[in-house]
Amino acid sequence: MSGPRVYLVGAGPGAADLLTVRAARLIAQADIVLHDALVPAEILALAERARIVPVGKRSGRPSSAQSFINKQLIDAARRHTVVVRLKGGDPMLFGRAQEEIDALVHAGIAVEIVPGISAAFGAAASVQQSLTQRGVSRSVMLLTPAVGKGETGHDWATAAVAADTAVLYMAGRQAGAIAAGLLVAGVPATRPAVIVENATLGTRERVFVTTVGQLEAEAARLGDGPALILLGDVFSSLQQRADIAEHLGLGSHHRAA
Ligand code: SAH
Repeated sequence: MSGPRVYLVGAGPGAADLLTVRAARLIAQADIVLHDALVPAEILALAERARIVPVGKRSGRPSSAQSFINKQLIDAARRHTVVVRLKGGDPMLFGRAQEEIDALVHAGIAVEIVPGISAAFGAAASVQQSLTQRGVSRSVMLLTPAVGKGETGHDWATAAVAADTAVLYMAGRQAGAIAAGLLVAGVPATRPAVIVENATLGTRERVFVTTVGQLEAEAARLGDGPALILLGDVFSSLQQRADIAEHLGLGSHHRAA
């Protein structure tokens, strides 16, 4: 006999067809889906029989306290057979999955994790630039400068400098402070930077090819979609490609600074 079980499922970066087959099957079978704000309607529409409960957190908007989400998950697991907790990207990256796993395990509820494509990989695919490249980048840092309420700050800039390529999550709205922190940490103002908003989300996707020095000015053009900042010399070829595309008058959404 199997007891209650919660599936912590990665919804991927946005496009519904970037879900894993396992994620799509579980969503279709779910009795209840508790989802974050970033999960798009096209994906929720795959939950044919489920009650859909938004428990989203989105910076700058009212959000459910984590302890309340944990309680909702435990209650759902006691009432339903297939409980899907749907998180944007991969659940194990900047998704507070550990708090939920710990609370569920503590309550005697089994947890199964279904990985998803993280936004960093959606963005790399969109701009057609490998995050690693022979002779240019052998290390990738996934980090966030954002800190939660009551958390002390951390030295994210040193971490960003330590890797050849850095991907900054939850960063779009603080691009000015980020650029300043990077410059203080010794990053040259000419270091290539790319901002990708709404990665993989079709016509809503926007790409800004720029430099650390121009980051704040470029970020001012962002809309209200989720955005990543990517940094590193691998993106210098993207800068050249953007220039070439512009020179040739090609309809490219890559824009040079
Ligand atoms: N677990 C998620 C990250 C959650 S934190 C993952 O693995 O992708 C939320 C942050 O992810 C956003 O602030 C943004 O920086 C990034 N993000 C999520 N979806 C994105 C998308 N489609 N395009 C660009 N950035 C995205």
